[in-house]
Amino acid sequence: CGVFGLYAPDEDVAKLTYFGLYALQHRGQESAGIATFDQQGQVHCYKEMGLVSRVFNEDILSQLPGTMAVGHNRYSTTGSSHVQNAQPALVDTRLGTLSLAHNGNLVNTRELRQELERRNCNCVTTSDSEAIAILIASEVDRGHDWHQAIQTALRQCQGAFSLVIGTPIGIFATRDPHGVRPLVIGSLDTNPNYYVFASETCGLDIIGASYLRNVNPGELVFANADGLCSERWTENPTPKLCVFEMIYFARPDSMMNEESLYSYRMRIGNVLATESPVDADLVIGVPDSGIPAAIGYSRTSKISYAEGLIKNRYVGRTFIQPTQHMRESGIRMKLNPLKDVLEGQRLIIVDDSIVRGTTSRKLVKALRDAGAKEVHMRVSSPPVTHPCFYGIDTDDQKQLIAATKSVDEIAAQIGVDSLAYLSWEGMLEATQQDPSQFCSACFTGDYPIPVPAQLRHSKLM
Ligand code: 5GP
Ligand code: SF4
Ligand code: MG
Repeated sequence: CGVFGLYAPDEDVAKLTYFGLYALQHRGQESAGIATFDQQGQVHCYKEMGLVSRVFNEDILSQLPGTMAVGHNRYSTTGSSHVQNAQPALVDTRLGTLSLAHNGNLVNTRELRQELERRNCNCVTTSDSEAIAILIASEVDRGHDWHQAIQTALRQCQGAFSLVIGTPIGIFATRDPHGVRPLVIGSLDTNPNYYVFASETCGLDIIGASYLRNVNPGELVFANADGLCSERWTENPTPKLCVFEMIYFARPDSMMNEESLYSYRMRIGNVLATESPVDADLVIGVPDSGIPAAIGYSRTSKISYAEGLIKNRYVGRTFIQPTQHMRESGIRMKLNPLKDVLEGQRLIIVDDSIVRGTTSRKLVKALRDAGAKEVHMRVSSPPVTHPCFYGIDTDDQKQLIAATKSVDEIAAQIGVDSLAYLSWEGMLEATQQDPSQFCSACFTGDYPIPVPAQLRHSKLM
């Protein structure tokens, strides 16, 4: 999911939030929502299924007045795909309404819901995010102020959560003690006393805000008329940023660890070329996510790079079912091979990951149909062998091709002449950060936040 929030009394906060969400669209396409708080602390909210540009228009935005706003793009990992699960989640308390936007996934939702039932607070939806919002409201209603209530509630949550929480007194932003999902702080260039929170820095760039710093793991940041203040609600934060954010999920123009992810992804292409060279004529990448690593591979291997696949940039979700014939040729809805570039070439095709293997199989067939003489696949991440419980929608383990098959078996199944993956060490070394600061459980099964047995069994073989 994508989360966004800002405190900016003289700005059109709904419109700025709209553009923030627009930049964060890649983080979730299922539903979009914005909640604003006006001067009286009244909440105005609109949320609907679909892309940000489909959900909102000038008219709807003009009905969202306020001095601050919270926004969300949903990508469903838990809870069903239904407008009831759209965020921000709104809950009334004795101190006014709170609105909450969540990115990540809790692992103790079941326990939280039981606790809430014990307190006679009922959850309407199936989402873990609503459970967090109701828990905070319950702590407020037990007599805590906003700061205490949020901190007390957060200490009861286990799993991955980057949150932006709107309240009548100001906006809060926090990350779980491992900081699995990203969350950054910026300030508006037109008024540096106005603060912005966004999942990624691309959400700041689009509204003319400058990056200040990350929200730290286990930190609670609060923005209102008095500026920004920081509180710590956990004793021992241990950073475990999702390495898949760096490899694939986050936008390449977003900055992490002081550099763009484009630069990181080029560097893993360099490492991949050093680790797994192959004699060939041309390097191509799978648009868009495989491109930076393909360029990196090309530069290190000195094998020239070209675009061999053109992506239709306008394919969102199509609501019209393709014909049977179209479905069989599957991939060409989205990616079309350039025949005259590929004909007779010994190709290296670079993608960021193989999950189920279906994309790769179809692509390899399309490249061969277009006349490629040899197809060598290089993957800029290690084999995905384990599902994610922290908010990335990888499938059940049995659907992950690398969970049951060796690299040679995968090569045979997707129909390539050779296949190699980036090493786990190479992926982490290329971050140029302390490797212990990352979660890489989908490549190792070494889950940094314990996953309760019942949840493990739902997705692990
Ligand atoms: P697969 O092997 O499952 O057919 O697809 C791999 C492709 O899907 C890669 O090109 C990669 O960029 C993309 N991909 C990787 N991880 C995810 C994910 O979590 N969700 C979705 N929708 N696509 C992903
Ligand atoms: Fe990211 Fe994989 Fe860890 Fe999930 S398991 S948080 S996708 S690194
Ligand atoms: Mg891709």
